[in-house]
Amino acid sequence: MMRRSAGYPDRMITGRCLCEAVTFELTGDIIATAVCHCDRCQRQGGSAFSVNLVAHESQLKVNGELKTFEERGERKDDVYVRRKFCPGCGSPIVSELAKSNGIIAVKAGVLDDKSSVNPTVEAWCVDRQPWVSLPGMAMSMEREQP
Ligand SMILES: [Zn+2]
Ligand SMILES: [Zn+2]
Repeated sequence: MMRRSAGYPDRMITGRCLCEAVTFELTGDIIATAVCHCDRCQRQGGSAFSVNLVAHESQLKVNGELKTFEERGERKDDVYVRRKFCPGCGSPIVSELAKSNGIIAVKAGVLDDKSSVNPTVEAWCVDRQPWVSLPGMAMSMEREQP
């Protein structure tokens, strides 16, 4: 995986899967912190929504083996998301958005420090559960795009 040569602030975000076979480091400024309410995220995470650190793939360094699930779109026409997870414990680590030029979504639940995640964007509100209402959202999108 390519990494940018310079310009990173000191900030480094670290994380690990449940069984600790997979660890990772995310460096540099993240693009956004976003909640995804889509049905696929609910199924993969076993939860009501996913929380994601959106970044570029060059910012992420993963140690350990990941397994990949290639997720096809609603029309099953093409692969839109590559969901990568630990094959030992199943923890979701990162999703690659296949159509978005190296944009990735690192799963906030596997960060070492989750206290400052603070998501401000939510997507796929069309699938949002009626009992979920999140504070602090600057942008709410019905689907993936505004
Ligand atoms: Zn694991
Ligand atoms: Zn989703």
